[in-house]
Amino acid sequence: MNNAFENAMTQLDKVAKIKNFGDGLIACLRQPDRDIRISIPVKMDDSSIKIFEGYRVEYNNTLGPYKGGIRYHSETEINEVKALAFWMVLKCAVAGIPMGGGKGGITVDSKKLSKGELERLSRGWMQKLSDILGPHKDVPAPDLNTTPEIMAWMADEYEKITGDKTGAVITGKSLKDGGSEGRDTATGLGGFYVFEAFRKELGLPEKCKIIVQGFGNVGNNAAQIFAEHGHTIIAISDSKGGIYNLSGIDIEKLLKHKKNTGALSSFMDSKNITNEELLKLPCDLLIPAAYENVLTDANANKVKAKAILELANGPTTPKADEILFTKGIPVVPDILANSGGVIASYFEWEQNLKNEHWSKKEVFEKLKIMLEDASKKISEKARESKTSFRMGAFILALERIKEKMK
Ligand code: NAD
Repeated sequence: MNNAFENAMTQLDKVAKIKNFGDGLIACLRQPDRDIRISIPVKMDDSSIKIFEGYRVEYNNTLGPYKGGIRYHSETEINEVKALAFWMVLKCAVAGIPMGGGKGGITVDSKKLSKGELERLSRGWMQKLSDILGPHKDVPAPDLNTTPEIMAWMADEYEKITGDKTGAVITGKSLKDGGSEGRDTATGLGGFYVFEAFRKELGLPEKCKIIVQGFGNVGNNAAQIFAEHGHTIIAISDSKGGIYNLSGIDIEKLLKHKKNTGALSSFMDSKNITNEELLKLPCDLLIPAAYENVLTDANANKVKAKAILELANGPTTPKADEILFTKGIPVVPDILANSGGVIASYFEWEQNLKNEHWSKKEVFEKLKIMLEDASKKISEKARESKTSFRMGAFILALERIKEKMK
C-alpha cells in the first residue's frame, strides 16, 4: 500500500539532492503547520446519530492564506490529506498566486448518504472548523466527490456563524452563489493549456490519441476539451472500469449513456476494459484524472504512452516516476498540469473580496497566460538541472517560497 505522504516526502528529498535550498526550508516543509482531526456527529434520516471523521491540514502559508480542496472518500485518511496539502503549497507557488497550501476531507462514502445527510455532514464540517477558516486565513474548495452545492452549504454555514457575507471563505461555488465563471471546467482546460505549451517538447503530433482515467469533473471536462480541439479519446474509465475504441469515443454520447445506465461499460462500438488495462494501452498521451498511486513500480514498465499529463493529484509513485524517466516517457506533473483549478479558485476569491464579476473570456485569458508562463519556467528549470519536469516544478516552487521566507 502506497502512503501518499511518504511519496510526497520522497519527492522533497529528491529535489533537495538536485539543488541546495538549505536545511531550514526543507525542514519547514517536512511537516504541516498544523493538522486537525475532527469528529462530526450527524443525525441520519432514521434518527440515529453517526460520527464521521474529518480533517483539515494547514500545511504552509508563506505565500498567502492556506488554500486547498475538501475530499469526501471512504479511504481518505490523515496521511492522504497531508500529502495533498503539501502538493497544494507547491502548486500555488508554481502558479504564482498569493496562496499557501492546505487540504481537508471526511472519511465517507458520500454516495451512500441522502441529500439531507450530506448537507448536515457538510455543515458539521464547517461548524467544527469555522474558527480556523476565513478569507484571509484558510480558504477551502471542492475535490473528489464534493460539489458546488456542498461549497454553498459550507459558505452559508460560515456566514451564519461569523456574519461574513463576502463568500470568499470557500471557492468552487456555483455562479448563483458567488462562484466564478469557468471554475467548473478550469482544471481540465488548464490541463489543455499546459499540454499545448509542452506538446512540441514532448514530441507529440498535432492530433493525438488520448487515454483518460477518470470521468468526474476533471476527466470528463478534459476529455471534452481535448476532443473539441480535434484530438481522439480512444479510452476512458471511471471507478467501475473503462471502454476502448481506437476510432474515438463520443464524449457527449458517453455522458448520456452513463446517465442512463450508471456505467461506462457496453457503450456503442467500444470494448470494455479494466482500469489496469487502460493504463497499459498504446497512445500518444495518457491522462490520469481519477485517484493517486495508480502508476506504480508494478505497472510503470508496461506503460506504452508517449507522454503523461497528470490531472489527478499524485497519480504516479516516486518509483514509477523513476521507471518512466528511464524509459524516456515524460511526465507533466500534477502541481502544474492540474493547477487550473486552484488558479480559477484564486480568481473567485479575488472577485468575492472586490465584489466583482469577471467574464468567462477574461477568466480563461488570465488562466492561459499564467499557465503558459509557469510551463515555460518549469521547462527551463528542468533543462538547467537536467532533471524531470516534476523536479523542475519543485525547484521553481521552492525558489519562490524561499525568496518569500527571507
Ligand atoms: P470527481 O469525484 O468528480 O471524479 C473522480 C472520477 O474518478 C470519477 O469518475 C470516479 O469514478 C473515478 N475514480 C475514482 N476512483 C477511481 C479508481 N480507483 N480508478 C479509476 N477511476 C476512479 O473528482 P475530480 O474533481 O474529477 O478529481 C479527480 C482528480 O483530480 C483527483 O485526484 C483530484 O484531487 C484532482 N483534482 C481535481 C481538481 C478539481 O478542480 N476538481 C483540481 C485539481 C486536481
